[in-house]
Amino acid sequence: MIIIVESGADKQTVDNLVAKVRSLGFTPHPIFGVEKTVIAVVGHKTQEKIDILETMPGVQQIVPILRPYKLVGREVRADQTVIEIADGLEIGGERVVVMAGPCAVESYEQFSQIARYVRDAGAQVLRGGIFKPRTSPHDFQGLRERGIPVAKAVKEETGLPFVTEVVDVRDIEALHEVADVYQVGARNMQNFALLTELGKVDRPVMLKRAMSATVDDLLQAAEYVVVEGNANVILCERGIRTFETSTRNTLDISAVVALKRFSHLPVVVDPSHASGHDWMVPALSKAAVAAGADGLLIETHWRPQEAMVDGHQSLTPSTFDQLMDELPAICAAVGRSL
Ligand code: PEP
Ligand code: MN
Repeated sequence: MIIIVESGADKQTVDNLVAKVRSLGFTPHPIFGVEKTVIAVVGHKTQEKIDILETMPGVQQIVPILRPYKLVGREVRADQTVIEIADGLEIGGERVVVMAGPCAVESYEQFSQIARYVRDAGAQVLRGGIFKPRTSPHDFQGLRERGIPVAKAVKEETGLPFVTEVVDVRDIEALHEVADVYQVGARNMQNFALLTELGKVDRPVMLKRAMSATVDDLLQAAEYVVVEGNANVILCERGIRTFETSTRNTLDISAVVALKRFSHLPVVVDPSHASGHDWMVPALSKAAVAAGADGLLIETHWRPQEAMVDGHQSLTPSTFDQLMDELPAICAAVGRSL
């Protein structure tokens, strides 16, 4: 349920309400919106407890949350969540954020070269997998622990914040040294133990939609992180499994529109994994921004034909450059900027 706080209620009144909610055995999540303050209340409700809360000073109204996801839905927050990724860089606001880099960090030379290039072309966040969840156990699994100092060096060199996938709960701590944003991959979207632990970290989490997950499933997975206290979740549409074979997955552009309507969390689109084809990535990137995406996650490689992972879907420096030149006009058409 949601407690809608009377407008003009002071901090002490809100604090008292939060304490009361807690003393009744619920977990309170105060949300300070632009227009109103609400307290989302999670836990088993009884009419008796609702009656007690209804008589508390500062309570305007108590309303049930009807959707299965409580904290990430629009019911508790009408305005958009804006997440600070790094000093001076936000996602969910007016600016569209481009995250770019190789699928995997392969070596210092490979990562450093492409990282400097994407930064100079205008990317605001660097991507690169250190731990790679591969369909086959025989395929390259990432540099793993050895990749952490590499990513750290390249981050320092470029000054870019870094998003990287955490595959296993046991790696959260080691990655804390380099990850400005923890990525949860499609294969782990419903790894509830991982989501719960990421709910306790002080970094944003980018949660990718699983291949067969509905929009509702994705939002309920995001809820696992937020309910633990980490409100900084970025949703990512990366294509879903359909009967179509001309693409690796099918980019569900309508999911972007749906997520923006049902949730206040920022939405990123990954056209690389969605399509599996480098030649599709520019058009899908532009479609995503036009549909309201707050960011793009784009695989790029200096020599895609030599990439250890996902070369066929990686943009070259020149195609990435061209896309970065074309995006501002699309952003401007939908009231955004790059
Ligand atoms: C990735 O971003 O490199 C990745 C593995 O993506 P996904 O989890 O969407 O397959
Ligand atoms: Mn990849």
